[in-house]
Amino acid sequence: MFALPMVCYALVFACNEDGCASLADAYSRGVRAFPGFPKSMSLFDASGGAIALGWLAFTALAHVVLPGIEARGVVLGDGTRLTYKLNGFRVFAATCVVGAIGSYFGIIDLTLVHEKFLSMLTTMIAFAFALSTYLYASSFGRGKTLARGGNSGNVAYDYFIGRELNPRLMRGAFDLKVFCELTPGLIGWLLLDVGFAAKEYARSGAVSPAMALVCAFQGAYVIDALWNEPAILTTMDVTTDGFGFMLAFGDLVWVPFTYSLQCRYILEHPQALSRAHLALVLLVQCVGYTIFRGANNQKNLFRTNPKDPSVTHLKTLQTKRGTKLIVSGWWGVCRHINYLGDWIMAWAWCLPCGFAHVVPYFYVVYFGILLIHRDARDGEACAEKYGADWARYCAIVKYRLIPFIY
Ligand code: NDP
Repeated sequence: MFALPMVCYALVFACNEDGCASLADAYSRGVRAFPGFPKSMSLFDASGGAIALGWLAFTALAHVVLPGIEARGVVLGDGTRLTYKLNGFRVFAATCVVGAIGSYFGIIDLTLVHEKFLSMLTTMIAFAFALSTYLYASSFGRGKTLARGGNSGNVAYDYFIGRELNPRLMRGAFDLKVFCELTPGLIGWLLLDVGFAAKEYARSGAVSPAMALVCAFQGAYVIDALWNEPAILTTMDVTTDGFGFMLAFGDLVWVPFTYSLQCRYILEHPQALSRAHLALVLLVQCVGYTIFRGANNQKNLFRTNPKDPSVTHLKTLQTKRGTKLIVSGWWGVCRHINYLGDWIMAWAWCLPCGFAHVVPYFYVVYFGILLIHRDARDGEACAEKYGADWARYCAIVKYRLIPFIY
């Protein structure tokens, strides 16, 4: 809980418009190789704080006011099934409308996100701690459903991992976890990207191809997640994990402030990429997206509509639990081929930063570690869910993430 905010600050401390530490420099000169926090950014100021909190208030209000679909979640351990109001895509559309009108009339200045970056980061870190404290304290109320892994009795561990499974406000109408998972952080990430692109445009009169590509790739990823919003209800985050510091910080701080690093880097270190380089980036993105979307769609369709002609040819393994596991198609290649596609896309998001510095490749490294860990966690959960059938499945689909390698 101390280290994660420090990593967010370190990414600015090590790489900003005053310079960017190379690996060799960092190795030979240690922390002196880093440029330090730039003078143009303050660690905290009232306006940066107001922008960050204003953004949270706007998304919360939009979530409450705008209509949404009512979707049912999975059956929980205690046999109950919750209903969720989902309107993340509408909140996104409202953000676009308000942003466009506000920018046109000069009320909103998106380029400010660069100057206020550190100040907004500090505010959101403080908010994540405040929210986690509230979540931990309120989880001791009566009638709360606790997450299986979040009730160890160790205060620090439970505070971090999340005690209560589905904390809600407004008599159950406002699901805090699903709201934080989809709305302020994800759309906020895109706003940071667009703000950096706007600043590049204000500085140079153009948006560079490198910036445009990263914004387009990440924009498509966020819009895809918001468009397929109901899919969140079957993810581990929603069905299994409690809501504590890990997800609150991850959703509200980590995702927007570290995933936007590449756009910030391109703004601060302009990249003139060759056509061959741009073509390579596009190719990597297409390969990653084809695997990621193909695999996720195949499993979602198979789970929700197994009679669909595009999945009836798949070979399956019948389990004692009642459900079937796919053993051919994308899911016959390896057990988490969707993670591999996601990771290949991560490369396409970093390659536009060129090869001068290693810092903008942070996302590829971090995300690789996250996916290996997530695969292990899901493997454990499936071994528990499916018992001997999971061992049979693993014997058929031998590789975890990368065919013939891992
Ligand atoms: P998955 O979509 O891979 O879902 C795992 C579940 O799918 C298993 O628990 C099992 O549940 C079911 N399953 C596993 N194997 C099979 C099979 N062969 N046939 C049928 N069902 C199977 O996991 P996630 O929810 O972790 O990931 C969803 C997406 O989100 C991924 O593409 C991932 O890359 C992405 N993601 C992105 C993150 C980011 O920060 N950008 C972070 C985390 C995830 P059951 O059998 O009970 O249905």
